[in-house]
Amino acid sequence: MKHISSLDRVVCFGRPGNHPVIDLHVHPDYSIDAKGSVEDFCLKAVEMGLRGICFTTHLDTDPDYDDAYVVVNGKRLSVFDGRWLENYESEVRTAGDSFRDRGLQVRLGVEVDYYPGALEVLPDQFHETEFDLVMGSVHLVDHMQMSTEKDALTTFRKLSLEELGERYYGLLTQCVETGFFDLLGHLDIYRRYGERFYGNEIHSLWSSHLKGLTAKMKAHAVGFEVNTSSWRKGMQEPMPESSLIRALRKSGITTVTVGSDAHNPADVGADVDRALDLIRNCGFDAPFDFLKRRPVMMADIT
Ligand SMILES: [Zn+2]
Ligand SMILES: [Zn+2]
Repeated sequence: MKHISSLDRVVCFGRPGNHPVIDLHVHPDYSIDAKGSVEDFCLKAVEMGLRGICFTTHLDTDPDYDDAYVVVNGKRLSVFDGRWLENYESEVRTAGDSFRDRGLQVRLGVEVDYYPGALEVLPDQFHETEFDLVMGSVHLVDHMQMSTEKDALTTFRKLSLEELGERYYGLLTQCVETGFFDLLGHLDIYRRYGERFYGNEIHSLWSSHLKGLTAKMKAHAVGFEVNTSSWRKGMQEPMPESSLIRALRKSGITTVTVGSDAHNPADVGADVDRALDLIRNCGFDAPFDFLKRRPVMMADIT
């Protein structure tokens, strides 16, 4: 059950010298597009001096897409066979026990691909899993991926920029309205291939949707992440871009997290310092951690 009261927030004071960021978005090799074990990711997080790491394995179920799998012990399994969740939970919790003494907090999360109907097909075991964070991400518009060039361009050729905004932000708002999610992943992912296709106007696509979206985010206590992966892909800005981060803060959204979206251990913690500086410049005191689906403010330590 998701907690929606801001009174649930607790402040966590870190130890001086410890990196003030938890990387809340990483994919170990349970995801079919990722490499590296849970342990490999934790080792890299310790090496980077992070205070914590949250595993967010993909849970993709769109029937039009052939990616509804996870990998367990080298075997590809259907995500609908929820037995993998027991394995996942136990491996992440075991890592949490063994890395706690090394100053690393390990969180159990999941990145659910949101599309209408996604919540009805989740495996039963999903609801028995004690997640720290359930992130909702819209990857698909009209069943086409925004994160792969070929799919994104197919969609863009059919839609005006305004229509893209209506479809994408419509889905995102629905995602929030379900009341099911704690956090929105890579909020303006359409920019990855959309910047080149639509030009500069894409940078203000969010503006006519912001009011409606943030009203729902506040009503359902949903935060957003600053996803640093776009910097690694040569883009100028993280997701969402700084103008939108600032606008979200001005609209009263206070829960922000930082995530690398690493799909291999080498990218764990990538650009988290840069993201931290940016969110402070955009008016946030500090990023949040998530524990048992509650946002936990990381105290502002320098
Ligand atoms: Zn994603
Ligand atoms: Zn991801």
